[in-house]
Amino acid sequence: MSKIVIFGECMVELVNRDADTLSKGYAGDTYNTAVYLKRCAHDISVSYLTAIGADFLSDELLFKMGEEEINTDQVYRSNDRNLGLYMVRTDKHGERTFAYWRANSAATQTMNLFNGSLNNADVFYFSGISLAILDDAQRLKLFDLVDSVRAAGGKVVFDPNYRPRLWKDQQEAQTWIDKAYGHADIAFPGGDDHLALYGHTDVDAIHAHVAALGVAEIIVKNGAVGVHIYQGKTHCIVPVERVEQVVDTTAAGDAFNGGYLSARLSGKDVTDSASFGAKVAATVISYPGAIVEKEAFFKHIAA
Ligand code: ADP
Repeated sequence: MSKIVIFGECMVELVNRDADTLSKGYAGDTYNTAVYLKRCAHDISVSYLTAIGADFLSDELLFKMGEEEINTDQVYRSNDRNLGLYMVRTDKHGERTFAYWRANSAATQTMNLFNGSLNNADVFYFSGISLAILDDAQRLKLFDLVDSVRAAGGKVVFDPNYRPRLWKDQQEAQTWIDKAYGHADIAFPGGDDHLALYGHTDVDAIHAHVAALGVAEIIVKNGAVGVHIYQGKTHCIVPVERVEQVVDTTAAGDAFNGGYLSARLSGKDVTDSASFGAKVAATVISYPGAIVEKEAFFKHIAA
């Protein structure tokens, strides 16, 4: 069984159903990817590396992870911090506004609490958000971990997921995200992220930047536009079937990554993997929230 370890932060997600009613879930970019990857590839072992608190919401998250069959062997506990939280408000035009309470969350201490090793991981996955929430000393510790995975023959996967407000400034984000690309075997740059972070206005510019940093397999996502894949000297475009009735685009990219990796780690080639990733993403944007209820998810995927 191949083993992937996914590192990042899962938060409490509160979504307004109407003016006075909130529904509660658990979500976060890398966690969303872990959920969809595991749902789509039952025989891959998925562990989530993070830190949670001693609060009851943290306990509920652990329970959810169990329901999703995500291994909790890499979940650390902070005694004095809680789970981060975010709230989504959707107005009557469908526009979403996010508010976050995550600055002092347990997950921001993950690498301080981490005292194990991931040497038996075949794949290690992290994102620009995973990096952004850590202080510099923990970021360096994370790169030591990445180096140890690669030295043991494992592969590293990175999605930049640029969130400006989590970084001191753009320069800081560029420095660390470039370093992450420099340590990655597979990367999922998004068109919007690269426009905001580097000013790249087309796929060629994104590819040139990421390839120059040594990434062997580059999957450029760009909404409903086709997915561009570069593998060494080969380049292909996989069309995306446009979803006309988009309900909520939250987690589209995360779901794509989960679907893509589930196929890729099961031995599929890059084009089949991208088609499957697009199918998983199309499913997720057809329902509200980051994590689609299991039954609806499998029904939609099978259709
Ligand atoms: P991110 O969440 O990283 O910004 P994108 O908006 O680029 O991600 O979308 C990720 C993936 O979701 C795309 O590659 C595509 O497969 C799918 N997707 C996004 N929007 C649509 C849409 N309107 N119709 C169909 N698929 C979509």
